[in-house]
Amino acid sequence: MTKNKVILPGEQVATTEELMSGEGTYEDNGVIRASRLGVFEIDTKNRRAKINPLTSVPVEIKTGNIVLAKVNSVRSNMVIADVIHVIGKSRQVSGDTNATLRVSEISNGYTKDPATEFSTGDIIRAKVTQVRPSLQLATKDKDLGVIKAVCSKCRASLVQKGNMLECQNCDNKERRKIAIDYGNYDINKL
Ligand SMILES: [Zn+2]
Repeated sequence: MTKNKVILPGEQVATTEELMSGEGTYEDNGVIRASRLGVFEIDTKNRRAKINPLTSVPVEIKTGNIVLAKVNSVRSNMVIADVIHVIGKSRQVSGDTNATLRVSEISNGYTKDPATEFSTGDIIRAKVTQVRPSLQLATKDKDLGVIKAVCSKCRASLVQKGNMLECQNCDNKERRKIAIDYGNYDINKL
């Protein structure tokens, strides 16, 4: 794991053999994970992994930005998601982060029901298509869509197997509109 990178909560940053758990991290079965969205740093003096908070000078969301958002609810014709990060910025997101992803903006193909493509709790990478009067997102491009998802039955991580996502814990299979780098993403770049 490289230093000075923005890390999502729950991501592994080191093992407990390499470093100790510091501020903004927790231990989980021999690995150290981020407990908050922030910037990874190694406190070399104390051999601790730290996640520093994003700079509190806020960044305004602009049309054309590529953002990360967490899916809050999936409705019959749209997905509601909360923008948590503007890619390329180590600053907190300001203003209204409550965004809408309309069914027609999900993929280039026809989507009948957003529930076949997204699920509550998914982390998605999306393009901002409108800021005012309301925040609108799109995930049509192949590098856009879900980058991280958990099983709707047991909340374990889903791993990509061909066109489907598979739960490593309970063998549940689920579908998503995934980004091309699902499971192997770097949120600091595209
Ligand atoms: Zn499962």
